[in-house]
Amino acid sequence: MSVTHYIDGKYTAESERKQALFNPATGEQSGQVSLASVAETEAAIASAKAAFPAWSEMSPLRRARVMFKFKALVEENIDELAALITKEHGKVLDDAKGELTRGLEVVEFACGIPHLLKGEMTEQIGSGIDAWSLNQPLGVVAGISPFNFPVMVPMWMFPIAIACGNTFVMKPSEKDPSSTLRIAELLTKAGLPDGVFNVVNGDKEAVDVLLTHPDVQAVSFVGSTPIAEYIYSTASAHGKRVQALGGAKNHMVVMPDADLDQAVAALMGAAYGSAGERCMAISVAVAVGNVADALIEKLMPKVRELRVGNGVIEGMEMGPLVTKEHLSKVEGYVAKGVEEGADLIVDGRGIEAEGGDGYFLGGCLFDNVTPEMTIYRDEIFGPVLSVVRVPDYATAVKLINEHEFGNGTAIFTQNGDAARQFCHEIQVGMVGVNVPIPVPMAFHSFGGWKRSLFGSLHVHGPDGVRFYTRRKAITARWPTGLRANADFIMPTMK
Ligand code: NAD
Repeated sequence: MSVTHYIDGKYTAESERKQALFNPATGEQSGQVSLASVAETEAAIASAKAAFPAWSEMSPLRRARVMFKFKALVEENIDELAALITKEHGKVLDDAKGELTRGLEVVEFACGIPHLLKGEMTEQIGSGIDAWSLNQPLGVVAGISPFNFPVMVPMWMFPIAIACGNTFVMKPSEKDPSSTLRIAELLTKAGLPDGVFNVVNGDKEAVDVLLTHPDVQAVSFVGSTPIAEYIYSTASAHGKRVQALGGAKNHMVVMPDADLDQAVAALMGAAYGSAGERCMAISVAVAVGNVADALIEKLMPKVRELRVGNGVIEGMEMGPLVTKEHLSKVEGYVAKGVEEGADLIVDGRGIEAEGGDGYFLGGCLFDNVTPEMTIYRDEIFGPVLSVVRVPDYATAVKLINEHEFGNGTAIFTQNGDAARQFCHEIQVGMVGVNVPIPVPMAFHSFGGWKRSLFGSLHVHGPDGVRFYTRRKAITARWPTGLRANADFIMPTMK
């Protein structure tokens, strides 16, 4: 299979440069993806630019109707889309469907665009004068997404962007691009005019064009922190509006009064679901007071019993890591943890997985991890959970607040006062109370703090509409014959 680009409502020819695609569960090559050149990326931007005038002039209600049709088409094709995700990413099929469902929630939100775009109005702001604000689209906007959610993360971006009247160039991850391209086909089928949504596959060469091209007005990025910083500084320096979401290290605090069975079930899903390749995965359990021994006792057998295998097999709980290189990187972190003195109480290396001999790593569990250790500081992005023991609540909060990342966190407790105080003082963008992965629903906005997000607006929800529109403030008076003489002082409302 040869994956190309989708520009102006159709697939392009292959690029000169290409990269192999693999099925991570089997390690077999499944095809190759074209890597866009500067000229190919410019062609996508030109197509989006040409589509902008007509699309932005179309009424919001008509744009919303395309979104309604698109939502129905994604639902009709959900099995095929999930299979494409599993084949290139590796996550189990049900998890791939979960990703699609969470993405569809943003499409549903975008269906309400006629309401969301309404401005504010003040009649008689001055005598005989009315004032109102408009929210207008920006023009051509670009999205650059990571491998771990090949449909959901693009859906955090383009449904709102195009519903607002912008046109879009999407650059998905070159590791698993096929599902994003299928989405582009479905948008065309839903009646989206050619050029409104384009997909270019590629690497830094394509990205750099999107960051610097004068016809691109805004860039939305999701990926690792070093690249997010690069995207933010480069695109900002070229006058673009930017939101760049980065990496994470998410802590879950387990208080001594927590329901331990509930906390353990939550940790299992949040640490090992999708093989830990989620920006909201919990990678640190902070055990407060005397809870640690009991927590480890309950966790250990469950981590050992995880069903690991090819995501297409019914009942699998965890699939492979995305690439061979990523597997070696995560295994390297496990070795480093041992070397630095943490207790590796479940070692998932060398596991026999069901239905494939691809890039598998079983669940790994470390006890007695301390803040100086590399496995505590770095984002590992694999099925590795670290337990840090702290004496009290205050030390848990200090630990989390001192970490450079601030994407998500959670507290498990039965005490409302502790939970409330945690929500108040924790320096993290998304907080769960007895909820391990507090990903906000589509009609709220998603985003972290500190080095987990660069830019001022979060994605989707109300911030998404703000990001993809610019405001215009109108102040109007209609002449009734000349009722006022020229004013030479700074105008104030009378
Ligand atoms: P990545 O940063 O390697 O890649 C993300 C995108 O950037 C890809 O499209 C890639 O092609 C592009 N890219 C990579 N190197 C580049 C370069 N040198 N110049 C320009 N573009 C470049 O991230 P990934 O490995 O695909 O995804 C995993 C990371 O994404 C993790 O750090 C994870 O925490 C993060 N993530 C964050 C969120 C969030 O909401 N904060 C959500 C999902 C993933």
